[in-house]
Amino acid sequence: MIKLQGKTVFAGIAIGPAAVLEKKDSPVKREHVDNVEAELLRLEQARERVLLELAELYERALSQVGESGAEVFGVHQMMLEDEDYSGSIKNIIESEKVNAEYAAAVTGDNFSEMFESMDDEYMKARAADIKDITERLIKTLSGKKSSVETGDVASVIIAEDLTPGETVQLDKSKVLAFVAWYGSTNSCAAILARTLNVPALIGVDYPEDIDKKPVIVDGNEGALYIDPDEETIKKYESLKEAEKAKKQMLAELKGKPTETRGGRRIKLYANIGGVSDVAYALQNDAEGIGLFRSEFLYLSKEDYPDEEEQFQVYKIVLQNMAGKKVIIRTLDIGADKKIDYFKLDEEENPAMGFRAIRICLEMPEIFKTQLRAIFRAGVYGNAAVMYPMIISVEELREIKSIVEEVKAELSEQGIPFKPDIEQGIMIETPAAVMISDLLAKEADFFSIGTNDLTQYTLAIDRQNSKIDRFYDPHHEAVLRMIETVVKNAHAEGIWAGICGELGADVSLTERFVEMGVDELSVSPTFILPIRKIIRNIE
Ligand code: PEP
Ligand code: MG
Repeated sequence: MIKLQGKTVFAGIAIGPAAVLEKKDSPVKREHVDNVEAELLRLEQARERVLLELAELYERALSQVGESGAEVFGVHQMMLEDEDYSGSIKNIIESEKVNAEYAAAVTGDNFSEMFESMDDEYMKARAADIKDITERLIKTLSGKKSSVETGDVASVIIAEDLTPGETVQLDKSKVLAFVAWYGSTNSCAAILARTLNVPALIGVDYPEDIDKKPVIVDGNEGALYIDPDEETIKKYESLKEAEKAKKQMLAELKGKPTETRGGRRIKLYANIGGVSDVAYALQNDAEGIGLFRSEFLYLSKEDYPDEEEQFQVYKIVLQNMAGKKVIIRTLDIGADKKIDYFKLDEEENPAMGFRAIRICLEMPEIFKTQLRAIFRAGVYGNAAVMYPMIISVEELREIKSIVEEVKAELSEQGIPFKPDIEQGIMIETPAAVMISDLLAKEADFFSIGTNDLTQYTLAIDRQNSKIDRFYDPHHEAVLRMIETVVKNAHAEGIWAGICGELGADVSLTERFVEMGVDELSVSPTFILPIRKIIRNIE
């Protein structure tokens, strides 16, 4: 038995034979052409045929995986229509008097290399798209049909890389899991794999002779077992059974409303840290995203993510959530979340120091970049924004005036954005609780951050494991605070939810409902268990 480690794109367990994806690539030959005009015409005709093919694939993906999954083919159409890309192919044909297949292959290599060398993870992932359209174009030019074969038996699909085109062309009933060497959790193929709801791993350095061998994909641990022994098979079969039973029990709750027997509806949203978590949210039937911790976007970088990069990420999340609410929390760094390029001074007491909204108000350019990206992305779905660590009404007013500046600038520049995005605040300081009656007059909603609220209320550092024994989020002081906040929110006609970990504490679900909490935003895996509890409350 061999155990290989990779990176999980989507969790779950699969057991079955490996099937190495046959790409059937034949090398492209360089051929001299005398009639350049005819070659350019051939290129144009092939390009038009591929555009049609992509439009068909778009429709097919739309019905299979929805708009967010289909979008990639829209992107491919755009790439193929791109002047630079087709200009380069034409130029090679004209200047070197060569066949269109060869010119396309060279252009594809150049462009994908260019994307791969970019720092930006999103742009890097576009290299696979370029390869995909180039391959499609070459196949059409040479009269070959692009085909992806999975074989007759349901298998674990193994590939060097999975292009989105291949992913959609696969016969889904034969796919148990995906295992790839290349790919990023950001790539379209990864998004599609998640949407298809099969376990998927990337970064697995599999041996060449893996084809047809029995394998186990452990999408929970990111591991691939080749030729597993009896004991391992037994272990995973029982894990799979348990997973299936649990899923079945909870799956019955999918699509059902989160409401009490008496008909009180609670919004049950998911907390996410990035695009890769959206699939978990959807898989668990989240009714929205109640907390998108946007700082993860900054934490994974060597330098400030620019507006475009942020815009793309928010846009993808909004599109994938297809009209469901997505609450993006603005940058919350400082304390335990340190980022070198911010070059912040060391502090004696960082949890009470220069963090979250304080940094944004002191460094408005960074804040404005993020706000521009959020308001622009708002066009693509049901976005809301919320601000962390608020302690005063003045802060909220200052934020709102920055938001107005941002909107005015976007208008002036003629850049599309959604002007009426809801603006809520996190209630995670005792100060915000005490003035929640005043804040409720100016905020569109409240989301209670019980992690910080507990630490500030009980004067207990949430990072200090030595005092874990005293960190008690069930403390009556914390619970009363939640009650006060909800009451003050309702008095002003706004909603209040909980997005801290306490929201997922099933021993308190009933109490929260009694308090009038309108929303619970929790890690995706807690959604269905909580829905079950709520549906049993009178
Ligand atoms: C909280 O403080 O409860 C919260 C949700 O924010 P974070 O855990 O990201 O500080
Ligand atoms: Mg917090």
